[in-house]
Amino acid sequence: TSRQGAITAVTNYSTPEASFSFADTKPTELFGCNVFNDNVMKDRLPKKVYKSLKKTIEDGAAIDPSIADTVANAMKEWAMEKGATHYTHVFYPLTGLTAEKHDSFISPDGSGNCIAEFEGKLLIQGEPDASSFPNGGLRATFEARGYTAWDVTSPAYILENPNGTFLCIPTAFISWKGEALDKKTPLLKATQVVNTSAQRILNIFGDKSGNRVASNAGPEQEYFLIDRNFFFARPDLMMSGRTLFGAKPAKGQELDDHYFGAVPRRVLSFMMDVEHELYKLGVPVKTRHNEVAPGQFEVAPVYEQSNIATDHNQMIMTTLKSVAKRHGMVCLLHEKPFAGINGSGKHVNYSLSCNGHGSLFDPGDNPHENAQFLIFCAAVIRAVHMHSKLLRAVVATASNDHRLGANEAPPAIMSIFLGEHLSEIFNKIQEGNSPTPTSTGFLKAGVDTLPPLPRDAGDRNRTSPFAFTGNRFEFRAVGSNLSIAGPQVALNTMMAESLDFIADEMEAFMGGDESKLNDAVNKVIKDIMDKHGQVVFNGDGYSEEWHKEAVEERGLPNLRTSADAIPELSSPETVEMFTKYGVFTKEELESRKEIYLEQYNQAIVTEAALVTKLAKTHILPGAVRYQKELAETCAAMKAIGVEFTTGTLEDLTAKLRGMQSANIELEKVMAAKPEGDVEEEAKYLCCTALPAMLEVRKYADQLEEVVADDLWCLPSYSEMLFIK
Ligand code: ADP
Ligand code: MG
Repeated sequence: TSRQGAITAVTNYSTPEASFSFADTKPTELFGCNVFNDNVMKDRLPKKVYKSLKKTIEDGAAIDPSIADTVANAMKEWAMEKGATHYTHVFYPLTGLTAEKHDSFISPDGSGNCIAEFEGKLLIQGEPDASSFPNGGLRATFEARGYTAWDVTSPAYILENPNGTFLCIPTAFISWKGEALDKKTPLLKATQVVNTSAQRILNIFGDKSGNRVASNAGPEQEYFLIDRNFFFARPDLMMSGRTLFGAKPAKGQELDDHYFGAVPRRVLSFMMDVEHELYKLGVPVKTRHNEVAPGQFEVAPVYEQSNIATDHNQMIMTTLKSVAKRHGMVCLLHEKPFAGINGSGKHVNYSLSCNGHGSLFDPGDNPHENAQFLIFCAAVIRAVHMHSKLLRAVVATASNDHRLGANEAPPAIMSIFLGEHLSEIFNKIQEGNSPTPTSTGFLKAGVDTLPPLPRDAGDRNRTSPFAFTGNRFEFRAVGSNLSIAGPQVALNTMMAESLDFIADEMEAFMGGDESKLNDAVNKVIKDIMDKHGQVVFNGDGYSEEWHKEAVEERGLPNLRTSADAIPELSSPETVEMFTKYGVFTKEELESRKEIYLEQYNQAIVTEAALVTKLAKTHILPGAVRYQKELAETCAAMKAIGVEFTTGTLEDLTAKLRGMQSANIELEKVMAAKPEGDVEEEAKYLCCTALPAMLEVRKYADQLEEVVADDLWCLPSYSEMLFIK
């Protein structure tokens, strides 16, 4: 069987020769060597051009088109010295993937030879054929053109291939009418709006410097690795990214012997290779370790400004996949490749920061800074409560649904963990009391004289979807395979709205009298806690009681599935907020809703087709052969007059029949799928198709437990997870 072939191949695997050694090339030398970064620009651009470009990068000033030719030429020279023949505008369409279209630098010179050139206009704007990217009805096909626009704030870089290299230019992808067709455009807008609103608060607190407030992200990327041979023997993994069949292994993760254990050496070579590639691209990957499930690992970079962090996370995902191949493995980024075993998430550590303050979610060293910190936290409380449905919607995919609420990842109910100390402060202010000393002795008085606040949130709470962790919030509901752009677009815009609300309130209360600052802080926090305090929850987010309490007593929404959540992208509240800030138009939101629902539907339709097919072509044949063997043995025994119990045969036959009728039922369900309305289709697939698929799986997994091992052709969970 393909399974036995895979096992043999895996057992014969031998480690490839190392292609580099960190002993020869230090990470410090390597870091950023393939990036057209500040040093390179300073070196290669005329001073005036460099200064103008820098202004655009740092202050968001408009690009001066007259410098484009000079920059393009410098980029081309630099790239060609590094072996580049082509350039590509890299963009991030709504598939969540990274897209590229290559053009060579070469142009015929009219006399039979060619020259290498790269004009400024080609740097600034590209025109990929956009018709095959999802657009959700934004453009009719006859005008299905889009263009890519150079994102000056994310540096160009070089990607290597054994035969040469190519220059990559990060871009935004926009329709000719100006609608965003990608993940980057709204992110750039949202980082601007949160800057403006945060400035207002800083102003109220007396900081008139106008220093730019940036949003930052530190995404912790989880992934699985399995040997490539197993992958190719599992059509379900290949086609849908997850196993649609597979009995639970005798040994799962119960023993917790994988988490933070020694990294298997084959995997360590892979990790070092990944880091080697990422260092060259200037991606500051910092930590690596085993994760909870067997075969599961994590890589996390040092946090960076949102736009860069997002591009870098895309690079991390592509690098993980491509390097895995070199090591004879496949990297699975799906949120739930194996049922019953921990899935993969991508905790997005989120903060706002500013020169002169550091993280605005970091309690300061004096009462004034503390009060400002409490205001920024209050803005988070209000934002998450008001837009919890949107926060659920931006992490909604067919694959992430298998993970959320599955006792390993936060539930679909959005709440905030503040930790005991911080909650106590908010509660006291809400009650109108001055905070009093606690056993830890850090709290002595009201906001006006708050002594240093604790920097540690106290106990770590792993069950909260949105947790304060000392100087940032950790959004844990994001899926491993998701672009982190969407969550940050939502967070930044929600924060902008909340900060503006608070600024309005405080300004009205103070009426220009700075001595009223502390009273204004107290009042705003009290009001926010009265209206939105129920979103704060420090307990066990996995527990049954919480689900009940959250929904019944606190009125928090529980959008269990993507079919429930995605439509929120165009709810009146969401549309109002995004249009107010110019981050999305109503049409853009409608189109995104449409696209994400289509993607959800497509994922389930593909899986259902795979379930039906694999049941017929992979599971049934093995089971039937075994059935025949048993029947023949039975007949032969009877023929020579020996009694033979037919229990095994009957059991097998019952399971087989069960699977077959479940499969027929699934085919009926899929044939009856409503067409036309994506939302209706999503509900149907979620409520009717998914359970029907599970019913087939139930019998198939039972068969795996009884069919003769040599007749079973799909690699088992234990083989895929434990054999390295
Ligand atoms: P843990 O697993 O304990 O949550 P990790 O070290 O795996 O922590 O990841 C924490 C992530 O948070 C890193 O990417 C780190 O750079 C990031 N981070 C740290 N401080 C901030 C901050 N102020 N804003 C955003 N991200 C931060
Ligand atoms: Mg971690």
